[in-house]
Amino acid sequence: MSNSRQGATQQPQPAGKLFQFKLVLLGESAVGKSSLVLRFVKDQFDDFRESTIGAAFLTQTICLDDATTVKFEIWDTAGQERYKSLAPMYYRNANCAVVVYDITQSSSLDKAKSWVKELQRQADPNIVIALAGNKSDLSARRVVETEEAQAYADEAGLLFFETSAKTATNVNELFTSIAKKMPLDMLANPR
Ligand code: GDP
Repeated sequence: MSNSRQGATQQPQPAGKLFQFKLVLLGESAVGKSSLVLRFVKDQFDDFRESTIGAAFLTQTICLDDATTVKFEIWDTAGQERYKSLAPMYYRNANCAVVVYDITQSSSLDKAKSWVKELQRQADPNIVIALAGNKSDLSARRVVETEEAQAYADEAGLLFFETSAKTATNVNELFTSIAKKMPLDMLANPR
């Protein structure tokens, strides 16, 4: 993933106040973290994409209303699965996190839960966390039921969406709902 490329589809002119947040993606390898970012930022999907190596970030803005624009600096923390001890470097100073699992792999939900625990123990106490059950287009291979993940998300205080980076289902909704939940006060560096 190249650095700081702006997508063509969702770059509204900043209106009113601009709030900037650092967002990190966490989750097991191959659940679709990079694909969700690619869909959100560039409205693209690549079936044969290679896993990202190293960390990269992109930015994307969302106009919430005439007076408020939220800019996400999105860190795709590729490789954190293998180099777990480096993960705190990524989520330190993060304002929000998307923890991703794959609805066709139950082990990936267990892994997501362990990331949520780690974030809730060690990240900024005000961090907004969303759980994303990705690959919802693969319904024939589903092993994680929506209700199970929703119940966990409710209990853990997370936003929750089932997404498909492939079909663009709920991807904008996921990021927009995070933007709406961010505390839009001095903490967020209005520019
Ligand atoms: P990451 O390692 O978590 O960043 O995962 P990637 O974004 O590299 O995706 C891993 C694989 O899953 C790639 O082959 C993607 O094309 C595929 N993939 C990602 N998202 C989806 C999705 O929503 N639906 C389907 N069917 N495949 C997906």
